[in-house]
Amino acid sequence: MVNKKYIYLDNAATTPMDPRVINTILDHFNNTYGNASSIHSIGQISKNILEESRKSIAQFISAKKEDIIFTSSGTEADNLAIKGVAYQNKNEGNHIITSSIEHHAVLNPYKELEKEGFKITILPVDMNGLIDLEQLKDEINKKTILISIMFANNEIGTIEPIKQIGEIAKDHDIVFHTDAVQALGKIPIDVNDLNINLLSASSHKIYGPKGIGMLYVRNQGKKENGIKYIKPIMNGGNHEKSLRPSTEAVPLIAGFAKAVELVKNEMKTEVTRQTLLRDKIINFITNNISNCFLNGHPEIRLCNNINVDFSCIEGETIVISLNIENIGVSTGSACSSASLEPSHVLKAIGLDNNQANGSLRITLGRFTTEDEINQFLETLPNVIEEIRKMPPLDNWFCCGNRVQI
Ligand SMILES: *Cc1c(COP(=O)(O)O)cnc(C)c1O
Repeated sequence: MVNKKYIYLDNAATTPMDPRVINTILDHFNNTYGNASSIHSIGQISKNILEESRKSIAQFISAKKEDIIFTSSGTEADNLAIKGVAYQNKNEGNHIITSSIEHHAVLNPYKELEKEGFKITILPVDMNGLIDLEQLKDEINKKTILISIMFANNEIGTIEPIKQIGEIAKDHDIVFHTDAVQALGKIPIDVNDLNINLLSASSHKIYGPKGIGMLYVRNQGKKENGIKYIKPIMNGGNHEKSLRPSTEAVPLIAGFAKAVELVKNEMKTEVTRQTLLRDKIINFITNNISNCFLNGHPEIRLCNNINVDFSCIEGETIVISLNIENIGVSTGSACSSASLEPSHVLKAIGLDNNQANGSLRITLGRFTTEDEINQFLETLPNVIEEIRKMPPLDNWFCCGNRVQI
């Protein structure tokens, strides 16, 4: 059992389920067991829940109900979008544009596609993590079939200029995919206004269950002229417009829809509340701990993300020391913290290995209280001081010329 007093500040890795979501799911696990494809009434009950859930999730991003395809995760949605476009359009072109700070669920499918002859342009980002729109335009060529840029970054919280990217993609008649896993529920999203063709999201990042995600697919079956633009990566029955076969996980989908309903109702107040807590942490660290630098954009960042380079001490050591104090933070993406490679995102914004390895990610959530933040801020300076007393790494003078926050 998790200690009740544990202070969980790793909400970008995953969020605890909201008890209201748990109630919804339990109810459906108990009562909604039918296969949504069955004609009898038990099946139709599930079908209704499925379609109601689809409708409310669609409304949240101003999409049409039939354009929401349920998947098992954000990762699967990213794979379906990227491989789906690549395989469907390979006769029209083999060039894809993305950014250097994407999640591995986006970057790793490209590694596979490259082996098959696709050409991937990986746009660099500036020191704040933003792509350059002029460079994006310059990289587009006649063979470009997809632009895929994440909405907001999971490590440093930087929010990309999605509206402008959507306009550029539209002007060139190129499919635009965005991984919105971290943005959903924190930034208002209107897929029409933003000219998004494909959007990935995941339930467990918004207080819903793990194991369910979705891909928004604008007007599948018609690009403009009746050409399909994604191909399924699994083949089976004709669930989810044949784009994602297998019996729909109705209880999880209903939980996802409940989670969306809650973020929809609470987004405004939560964003304000978390932004205040975020800035309190940033200001405190600035004023009380020497030699640290804020990673990511100072303003254009997620309301719940703080990422700080404590230069020259190991982020891993900070994580372990804070864990002893019942505080859970991380060094970056949950996926890369298992490997000892420095984060590709921190390297992309220009950090060297020491700076990248010395960085700590603190991500707030709906259940984070001011009291918890006060306790965290009481503990942190001592933890950092203790670690800094330890024998330094080889390269102590690694702070370079970063601007101190
Ligand atoms: C968590 C995350 C994913 C993966 O989602 P899963 O549902 O865990 O597969 C993809 N992209 C980003 C930006 C994420 O933060």
